[in-house]
Amino acid sequence: MGMFDSVYLDAEAAKLVRCVHEHPQEMAELQTKSLDSTGTHYYVVKVQLYRQAPWIPGRAIGVIEPYGPEGSFYLVDRTLLLKSDLTATIRGYTHCHQCLAVVYDTGREDMWTGSLDSRRPWLEWELIFTYGVLQETRPIKLESRDEVKAGLERRGLRVLDDQDPLATRYRAQHRS
Ligand SMILES: [Zn+2]
Repeated sequence: MGMFDSVYLDAEAAKLVRCVHEHPQEMAELQTKSLDSTGTHYYVVKVQLYRQAPWIPGRAIGVIEPYGPEGSFYLVDRTLLLKSDLTATIRGYTHCHQCLAVVYDTGREDMWTGSLDSRRPWLEWELIFTYGVLQETRPIKLESRDEVKAGLERRGLRVLDDQDPLATRYRAQHRS
């Protein structure tokens, strides 16, 4: 069992949770400790909250659909989502994975990653639900890329220029 639950928002609801750089957090994992913290996944579809149903033994959990002309297939997950009538304020947080990662030098050599590491803007909102309907979102902390850079520099770390070839290579290697 997890130490948190996860909330995912569809495109419509994600318009209400954008980073400072205007990226809507569509289907991004917003982690929350506001609920039972049992590793349950919640979904917001057209502002209505749904809860992932517990797995039922014997129930098919996926369907196989043809993909492309070369005989490939998709395995499509068939998670049952049950309408929720929850009334609660949920604090959800994530990093923006659409923002370009800020690459910095940790100053110490690591066997696997060298001395570089990266950070992304921290995003945190309150999601206010009444009887399962998302009423509004309130930003708690929305970090900009410049704030990420300034925070790292305050800790005495050297931030690489976004165009620095080492930063570009790091992001490519780590798909970040
Ligand atoms: Zn962003």
